[in-house]
Amino acid sequence: MDKDYLIFDFQSILTQQKEKHAGEERFDKLMESVDENSVIEDMPFYKDYLSQFDVEQAFDGLNLSAEEETVLSRDDLYLLLRLVSASLSSKYKIIYDKPSNTVDLSITVESGGQSVTRNLADLGSSQLKRLFEIYVNELFEFSICEFDAEEQERFEAEQEDRLMLFEKEVRQLREQLRKKRLFFDMDNVLVDFQSGLDRIDEETKKEYRAKGPDDKDRLDEIPGLFSKMDPIPGAIEAVHKLAEVYDVFILSTAPWKNPSAWSDKVLWVTKYLDDVFHKRMIITHRKDLVEGDYLIDDRGKNGTSEFKGEWIHFGSERFPDWDAVLEYLLGNK
Ligand SMILES: [Mg+2]
Repeated sequence: MDKDYLIFDFQSILTQQKEKHAGEERFDKLMESVDENSVIEDMPFYKDYLSQFDVEQAFDGLNLSAEEETVLSRDDLYLLLRLVSASLSSKYKIIYDKPSNTVDLSITVESGGQSVTRNLADLGSSQLKRLFEIYVNELFEFSICEFDAEEQERFEAEQEDRLMLFEKEVRQLREQLRKKRLFFDMDNVLVDFQSGLDRIDEETKKEYRAKGPDDKDRLDEIPGLFSKMDPIPGAIEAVHKLAEVYDVFILSTAPWKNPSAWSDKVLWVTKYLDDVFHKRMIITHRKDLVEGDYLIDDRGKNGTSEFKGEWIHFGSERFPDWDAVLEYLLGNK
């Protein structure tokens, strides 16, 4: 595993350690497998403990501000993030800046009874070198420390806590990165229902009209109806704009007694919005069972009014059209 370290110098830390601990039994034992070609990744404390702090995955896809501001290579930075996260002697906080998609770390070190907090991106190269020394020396000291059984147990519990804290911080960070989930109803939100009906001949429509005062129109059961509908004005453009910011899905209901409506809806989406909604479509009579942040729907039926996120009531006084929805949902971000 060849790493490209610009600042971090393991051999110079090793030299310091040798000067300090040479002749000590536990240190000499630790050094048995170490030579001038050894890298930190060979050390037992790296393999057993540090490697569990998966910073590569945690910060995947993010800009690291220290990389821009300082002379650290990405490998330097990843190692430093690993060391800071794993250290039992300092505290840290992950700072995420959404507009620039950038992560920095604020580190608090206790020194001489004083507590000093600095952001990684604000540190110069000599300060960064010093941080590496502090953290790697800490790991050496723990490696050669003679713990009794009780102390050893406490030490391992502390390390376990650090790892759990790191995983919690990373979960919170990834949660901030998650796009909010937005669902779109189809009929009279994306799709102009009436435009489909207008294309059906009178003879067919008559067949599906109410037959008497106790009967109801069943026009939505006309086979093929749902493939003949036009998009609602502004809907296609709005979906494209919202898809840049939200994690978007169709959440629609199809009439139970009109099986062709189920497939017609897929055909409609494929025709008009396949670039956005390809395999992102849920057809259900229970929209309340689906988890998300927003649902744009013109009616409260089929679980919409019980939806656990926010129901954006399309066609209402507050959201009469797509302009109003866009202003709300894009202004919100
Ligand atoms: Mg609808």
